[in-house]
Amino acid sequence: MAYAFYGAMLSRRVDHFVESVIRDMTRLSIKHDAINLAQGFPDFPAPEELKRAAADAIMGDYNQYSITWGAKDLREEISRKALKYNHIEADPESEVTVTCGSTEAMMAAMLALINEGEEVVVFEPFYENYGPDAAVSGAVPRFVPLKDDCTIDEDALTSAFNKKTRALILNTPNNPCGKVFTKDELKLIADLCADHDVIAVTDEIYEYILYDGKKHISIASLDEMKDRTITISGFSKTYSVTGWRIGYAVAEKRLTSAIRKVHDFLTVGAPAPLQHACVTALKFPDPYYKELAKMYDGKRKLLYNALTKAGFRCLLPEGAYYILADIPDGVGMDDMEFARHLVSKVGVAAVPGSSFFKGEAGKHKLRFTFSKKEETLMEAARRLEGLKL
Ligand code: GLN
Repeated sequence: MAYAFYGAMLSRRVDHFVESVIRDMTRLSIKHDAINLAQGFPDFPAPEELKRAAADAIMGDYNQYSITWGAKDLREEISRKALKYNHIEADPESEVTVTCGSTEAMMAAMLALINEGEEVVVFEPFYENYGPDAAVSGAVPRFVPLKDDCTIDEDALTSAFNKKTRALILNTPNNPCGKVFTKDELKLIADLCADHDVIAVTDEIYEYILYDGKKHISIASLDEMKDRTITISGFSKTYSVTGWRIGYAVAEKRLTSAIRKVHDFLTVGAPAPLQHACVTALKFPDPYYKELAKMYDGKRKLLYNALTKAGFRCLLPEGAYYILADIPDGVGMDDMEFARHLVSKVGVAAVPGSSFFKGEAGKHKLRFTFSKKEETLMEAARRLEGLKL
């Protein structure tokens, strides 16, 4: 009898989004014993030194809560890194918050900023989480499609701003299409944000994974954006520790204090021993980051070749570790059907494109990650070769 009441007992908020399709594809991949090119996490080990630092932290009894907004030494290192790499000056005491992954940072930022019914500009394609982030925070997302070559449609962007616009979500390098926003594009966004008194919330989790000489630019490093940007990043992708759930938000004092309030009551804090280990990560020497990008460059080319050989059309990503591919002509299935077919019959899991688009465009696309060992990607390539179209 109790079940009859459950529908009425749930909040309207959760009606506006579904469970993560990315994680659902991982479950399907496990069920079919497929190769998981759906969820973006490495299947190779994390750096030895980092694992040792985490084990040492636990044995050294860093096992109780850290300060809610992050261990002091970690905030200090993040502040140093933000200055050196992102050209953002941030006071570790009042402008840095350590969170449970950049996912929490993004949600905490949205909850801290948005009032019910206010609008948030989001480029399309977008990372799956931004929809639910908007739904939970009461924001109304305004999607601005990027052009086919992933450049900004200036008119579309300009007309997305209005009196209700409160924030803009920027993800560079972009998941799923691999776009790295240029300085001119960031300048355009910055001018619009300044004119309309809008805050940029930037997801820069792939900031070190760049190809072909591309440079990462943080929009907060532009003068007019310093006090109106929440810069979010984390350790998951740069150090191959997606399961650690350590991320952070860097923002001017007033914004940070609002984010910290939300963060405190959502999670109390990120895992203390892993925060301690992340101090070691931030002390890795410069060549580590060059090697990381070089390693992913090889994987990028391997997957790109495999996909084009199998009949997919795709652009080589400029950054991050995904390829958004057009489903080959003549397949006769939409993204959902084809993703199900691939995982169950071919043994390769990908994410249906519609997870990243509000409109129809995603129905003809699949996203594949190349954050996997070379042998994993080679086996996926072999299986995709057998794709009967
Ligand atoms: N960021 C990773 C991806 O896009 C994992 C995210 C997730 O688990 N939803 O695949």
